[in-house]
Amino acid sequence: MTLAFVMQVVLFVNSILLLNNLNEAAVVAFGTRSCRFVFNSKLQGRNDKLHSSPSSRLLKHIDEFLNTEDALPTSMEQTNINESSLLSGALSLALCYIQRTLKSGQPHPQPRVLCLQCKSDAPQQYVAIMNAVFSAQRSMIPIDTCAVGTEHSAFLQQAAHITGGIYMKPSMPEGIFQYLTVVFATDLHSRRFLQLPRPAGVDFRASCFCHKKTIDMGYICSVCLSIFCKKRSSCSTCGANFSQRQPTSIGLKRKSATITLS
Ligand SMILES: [Zn+2]
Ligand SMILES: [Zn+2]
Repeated sequence: MTLAFVMQVVLFVNSILLLNNLNEAAVVAFGTRSCRFVFNSKLQGRNDKLHSSPSSRLLKHIDEFLNTEDALPTSMEQTNINESSLLSGALSLALCYIQRTLKSGQPHPQPRVLCLQCKSDAPQQYVAIMNAVFSAQRSMIPIDTCAVGTEHSAFLQQAAHITGGIYMKPSMPEGIFQYLTVVFATDLHSRRFLQLPRPAGVDFRASCFCHKKTIDMGYICSVCLSIFCKKRSSCSTCGANFSQRQPTSIGLKRKSATITLS
């Protein structure tokens, strides 16, 4: 993540606030070891010095977050640090914040989440990410996603597809500000009148619950819908028994079904 990239994202947040006086924005930064709020337009002037612009405050807090991220490994040497980015934690923070805002009773336009991810997908986070995505779907909160890395992101594609958001992978990430303002700055009402980019397809591959690896074909528990890469005699999540019974036996059979997930 370069300074130029951060600057363009900061300008985008500033432009969102300038579009409408009622617009609000909160920014959650996430790395490989932590995630936290780095900006909240509602707290303007409370915790920061007066006369500081939203852009300077956001830049300052992102810098503090990056310094904290760099310092964490030395204080957590004894723990097994997962090097995948904590997208699931950031999504959960954002959804909790939106729920709190909606329940505060203040008039608010339709909230939405924009997720920018530079790293590739972390299959070990599949379950947590999908739980957050389905939570957003249930709350009718669209998740717009933008994969800034070199590869397409199956998780971000699925998140946008399930929640009714927009997925995009910029072909020239160095001009990210233009992509953000043209595609993601539009509100939900205006989108129906615009020719926004349509995804060519969605990568629906899932990660198995046993090894956290992305799989094309697997076995799914008929009771709790857990996904496994190999056939099992029982489900490690809910304990359902898949052992074959004699045809003469009477009772409800629980079978694992082979499905194509692509
Ligand atoms: Zn597995
Ligand atoms: Zn199960």
